Amino acid sequence: MNGSSSLRLYLDISALVGNWNVLNRITAGACGAAIKANGYGLGAQSVKTYLAQAGCRDFFVSSWDEVRRLGSLDSGLSLSVLHGLREEDLSYALSVNARPVLCSPSMIQRWKNYAADRPCDVMVDTGMNRLGLTMEQAASGLLEGLKIENMLSHLACADEPDHPLNQKQLIQFQILFTKKQAKRYSLANSAGLFLDSAYHFDLARPGLALYGGIPSPKAEGVIKPVVSLSAQVIQVKDVTKGDSIGYGACFTASEKMRVAILHIGYADGYWRAFFQKGQAVKEGVPCPVVGRISMDMITVALPEGLAVQEGDWFSVDFALQKAAEQTGLSQYELLTSLGDRYQSIWHHP
Ligand SMILES: *Cc1c(COP(=O)(O)O)cnc(C)c1O
Repeated sequence: MNGSSSLRLYLDISALVGNWNVLNRITAGACGAAIKANGYGLGAQSVKTYLAQAGCRDFFVSSWDEVRRLGSLDSGLSLSVLHGLREEDLSYALSVNARPVLCSPSMIQRWKNYAADRPCDVMVDTGMNRLGLTMEQAASGLLEGLKIENMLSHLACADEPDHPLNQKQLIQFQILFTKKQAKRYSLANSAGLFLDSAYHFDLARPGLALYGGIPSPKAEGVIKPVVSLSAQVIQVKDVTKGDSIGYGACFTASEKMRVAILHIGYADGYWRAFFQKGQAVKEGVPCPVVGRISMDMITVALPEGLAVQEGDWFSVDFALQKAAEQTGLSQYELLTSLGDRYQSIWHHP
């Protein structure tokens, strides 16, 4: 993370803010932001600051530890903690102005015991079978006496627009919505808000699409990439025909070639699955990764005529949709595994 790192994460402020603006327009002004997992690896504090400047008011993290790392919250901003409230979270939770998303009867009892007069959020499980009260629990009287700001549920299959579970979950959520136990209702993540306006309710909670991920075909061309990777050349060398490169000697030069060793590897979220697929680019010239990905290094083949020396910088291809296809990893995994060796540079390109 220091200023002289040989790895850089370029983060496009205009794209981040532009993506939020697009999603806010699609949801007719009902767009929050999921900034859990350190803002999907980009830096939750910076993401929060830029999005708040753009007009975003509602933020979501996973845990109270993430609330702590985010630092103080400006007035007018709302922060919800998706994993709810453990006994050991209580004293911290009561000292800050974030709300737990209560998910279970025991969490609700805990909140009633210690903070009955304070606003909270509630998660109801409408069919994903992850966090949340059952529909029966939500209808049982358990929620009486709570000051519920947001009633949430989460979609299991929103990235498959035709999956029947979407409609089933929507119907369940509409039943909750008609009961008006909460001030606002929130169902859609990134993929969900691209489904149909029926899924928007009062507040959407996109994460992935803010950070340039493409959650749905409808997002293509609309959502702009935010993240690009840049890695410095450690060494340049000539390899003769028949020589192998890297661990396992998995690549053999079919002719004399020049290669550059770059400072990026699987410890930086540049996974071994990029073997035979990844590429880095210098001055618009693509250079394929050759040999296995090491922990801290990759080797790229230099086309004839491309002048490269130690200390030069390459941009490493990391277009999320394509990288996900190449590696078999999800766009979420690619973003959140970038690691902490990058120097983050927020910029307006
Ligand atoms: C992570 C998460 C989101 C954001 O999901 P994306 O698919 O990244 O848009 C929204 N709501 C909940 C409950 C989540 O856990």
